Amino acid sequence: MSKIRIATTSLAGCFGCHMSILDIDEKLFDLAAVAEFDRSPITDIKQCGPCDIGIVEGGVCNAENVEVLREFRRHCKVLIACGACAITGGIPALRNGVPLVECMAEAYLDGIGTENPSRTVPNDPELPLLLNRVHPIQEVVRIDHFLPGCPPPAEAIWQAISDLLAGREPTLSYTQLHYD
Ligand code: SF4
Repeated sequence: MSKIRIATTSLAGCFGCHMSILDIDEKLFDLAAVAEFDRSPITDIKQCGPCDIGIVEGGVCNAENVEVLREFRRHCKVLIACGACAITGGIPALRNGVPLVECMAEAYLDGIGTENPSRTVPNDPELPLLLNRVHPIQEVVRIDHFLPGCPPPAEAIWQAISDLLAGREPTLSYTQLHYD
């Protein structure tokens, strides 16, 4: 029997949602029996190929995030927004109330403890271009399922994955829904 293929990525996130996936503990063995990983921190594959399930952590803060997210949408049959940062922009979106130019000045020029004799903001072409604001991922591509929480509890992540594996729509109980 061919295994289902899962890809995961962290955009503007802290990898806490990925750690919560690992918190399904012994269920990881059940998952490994029926699934294999495409792009993810486990495989270190850099491009997302054709997949059954894509799990996205984090909001969209720069041009590279947009590219990766669109790639996931193109290649994943089902796309899951995992965690508050993906669904609302979360912690990274706290900068949305401050103009980007002021954020950059605070980070690289004028912030307390900043030492930057050249008085320049990093602008290497290799650096992803920052967007003016951090976006929830559903503002950029269509999302099929949402797992709220910071991070979503492991049992909610497993519930969603196991429902999908069984061909069901993910259904979370009241106690699995966290809005922290
Ligand atoms: Fe980290 Fe919480 Fe954002 Fe997940 S939702 S990436 S745990 S800050």
